[in-house]
Amino acid sequence: MNNHRYDIAIQGGGPVGLACAAWCLQKFPEANILLNDRNPIDDADLAAADSRGIALSHGSKLLLDTINAWPTECANIHRVHVSQAGRFGRALMTREELGQDALGHIIRYRDIHLTLRKALRAIQANSPNFVWHHLTSNTHADLINARCIVHAEGGLFKKQDWVESGRDYGQSALVGLVEVENALPHQAWERFTSEGPLAVLPSHYGSNILNLVWCSSPESAQRRLALNDADFLSALQEAFGSRIGKFLKIQDRRLYELGLNYRKEITTKNEVWIGNAAQTLHPVAGQGLNLGLRDAYLLAEKLTSIFSGPEESKTPALIQKTLQEYASSRKADRTTTIGLTDFMARVFTLNIGPVVLARGLALAAIQWLPPVKTALARQMMFGRR
Ligand SMILES: Cc1cc2nc3c(=O)[nH]c(=O)nc-3n(C[C@H](O)[C@H](O)[C@H](O)COP(=O)(O)OP(=O)(O)OC[C@H]3O[C@@H](n4cnc5c(N)ncnc54)[C@H](O)[C@@H]3O)c2cc1C
Repeated sequence: MNNHRYDIAIQGGGPVGLACAAWCLQKFPEANILLNDRNPIDDADLAAADSRGIALSHGSKLLLDTINAWPTECANIHRVHVSQAGRFGRALMTREELGQDALGHIIRYRDIHLTLRKALRAIQANSPNFVWHHLTSNTHADLINARCIVHAEGGLFKKQDWVESGRDYGQSALVGLVEVENALPHQAWERFTSEGPLAVLPSHYGSNILNLVWCSSPESAQRRLALNDADFLSALQEAFGSRIGKFLKIQDRRLYELGLNYRKEITTKNEVWIGNAAQTLHPVAGQGLNLGLRDAYLLAEKLTSIFSGPEESKTPALIQKTLQEYASSRKADRTTTIGLTDFMARVFTLNIGPVVLARGLALAAIQWLPPVKTALARQMMFGRR
């Protein structure tokens, strides 16, 4: 006899939890799923929320297109220029060299979130056994009363209620929207300064309005957050240089603490962790959400393979085995993405002579050895398969 009210309970209605629910239901509309969502039911209450620009890869676009969840307000990246402030070594990657329409896309977090909510609502209309709970008090009981529990509670570094393996980089990211005099359309800039990476990325607001992600020590970031606009812009100009002309305006400055927190084991008997609930990364390589979406897509494939089958096949043993297979199938992608991001976050912030030299050589290698450049770009765009 089935005493479980739900086959699958997904805990967390951020981008990864929403996408996981949508892919499960798209593959199997009869799926008996509960989504516990701490966000309010009304989109209007989220419209003013998190406005940071997120870089999504072409691989993520292909995945989100399958559920009509690609936001219209998006800026495409055609070129990425990587350099070290005041030192040798630079690399330029272009979409032509890699034979792609775009190297990536910049979208505000809230637009990704809202588009996924809309896509899931459209799928919900044909999903008779799907329950989407917003801020209910019986969340806990329903969660336990599920055959399989998917943790997608996400969270930011130092704001999560679990800490496992990882590293505190002693860095914060100051993000905002900046207006410049003379930007090149569709070009992203990543500049490694002595304090950390400084990225200036296209936005959908127009070619001279750019998303800023400026990483530094928490003290410097806090100090810059408190500066008046004119002083902030001149500090930014000094750190970035004059390649895109004058920095004219800054708005919507916010701070995020940065670090790596990840689980070595992402499944137990009938529980599984995906997205930021499984691994929280430094944004230097723009990989956190891209990796989380791949988690969600592959988990949905595995879960629907059991729960679309006959009742007698949904045994605890089979659920556990399927989750273990999922964990094995994610190992290479997780290890490579976590390792590459951790490497970049550390190497690009050290300033001892040999490291500066090695960093310059690495950038030169990316620039002058096409196979290195292509391999790196493919990892960034599609993850490890
Ligand atoms: C400054 C910065 C820049 C970044 N840039 C990039 C980038 O360029 N590219 C990229 O790929 N990634 C980037 N990231 C990472 C990216 O933001 C995350 O990887 C992504 O948001 C993870 O999505 P998620 O759904 O797992 O978690 P979240 O986005 O944190 O969403 C989790 C949701 O679950 C809800 N929740 C929490 N607990 C519960 C609970 N108990 N019950 C119910 N609901 C709950 C929360 O309210 C939230 O809505 C960046 C991160 C930072 C900080």
